[in-house]
Amino acid sequence: MSIPSAEEQLRFISGIQKILDEGSFVATYKFALLMALADFAVQSGLNGGDPEQLSTIDLAESFICSYWRQARPYSHAQTDDGMLLKMSSDRQPVVFRRIAELREKYNGRLADLRNSTGEWQRLKREVANTIAKMPLWKLQVVGSTVVTLLYRQDGQGYQGNRITLMPGVLSCLRLHYELVRSLVQSAWLRHVRRLNMAALQDRDLDAFLFDSERTAWPSGLRTILRDVQKGTCLYCGGVIRDAGDIDHFIPWARYPLELGHNFVLAHAGCNRSKSDLLVAPRHLSAWHTRNVYYTDTMEQAFEAISILHDYDTTRRIVGWAYTQAESNKGALWDSSNQFVPADASWRAIIT
Ligand SMILES: [Zn+2]
Repeated sequence: MSIPSAEEQLRFISGIQKILDEGSFVATYKFALLMALADFAVQSGLNGGDPEQLSTIDLAESFICSYWRQARPYSHAQTDDGMLLKMSSDRQPVVFRRIAELREKYNGRLADLRNSTGEWQRLKREVANTIAKMPLWKLQVVGSTVVTLLYRQDGQGYQGNRITLMPGVLSCLRLHYELVRSLVQSAWLRHVRRLNMAALQDRDLDAFLFDSERTAWPSGLRTILRDVQKGTCLYCGGVIRDAGDIDHFIPWARYPLELGHNFVLAHAGCNRSKSDLLVAPRHLSAWHTRNVYYTDTMEQAFEAISILHDYDTTRRIVGWAYTQAESNKGALWDSSNQFVPADASWRAIIT
């Protein structure tokens, strides 16, 4: 496995910036596509420098997740009746409308939509086709030239639904996932703000578009976590006497991971102190032990309250996050104001 040189990495990042700054963005599809590619790089666990082939169906789920959050009525402080934000200068994009309909039908529960196999597969196919027809060939068009930074589109004309990633793209996306995500999100935010200028005078658009939907968590989630953690805080082990905080184990700021196993129950104080950091190996070990020991219990309970879960994917994302911390020699949170340097010891824990 070859890691792209520092120069290649820089060239890659400035290429992404060029696409975002100078490409033409009529609808927001291209942002969602770029995020889907970055998510694929992390979730697939692939890290080779070799060209990698994939199909737009591999990108459909992440694409849907981006819009799932956004396809709900946006209401601002002054009024209660929200409306869908405009996602295009033209008519609302078809896929966005479709996702908004399904979101309404399933009361905002993505897990329920996924369980209704037929409808979910149809949506994925529709999204995969749309990606192939629309943003896939447009994403890399800057001005009148095509910048082959990320992939080559295979197949006939502009309709091919298979792409071959350029060498080093997976590595670059994994190495710089957070940077790519924040570049994409800020470009996306500016774009949606421009499209909706008339309807908005707000400060919260950023949170609406990209934050975790905490209010949509089913109430049973807390009970599950309380049960498998025996009423204690995952981090300090102390008893939680009030409701406790539901925390994203891998912080949302690092990766927007809302699969069931990523939730832990913690003291509000421990949660605040941990903030956006990854945790020390002893906490990683406690988390992993909880998940392995209660595998069946947790999976059944998540199913019952419609929380998505997939421990293999979760573990790959955790592995990616710790690989980053290890190579950046980052600080891991241990307890209030106590940190330990990231090293390779996490590798022995998540096997
Ligand atoms: Zn605690």
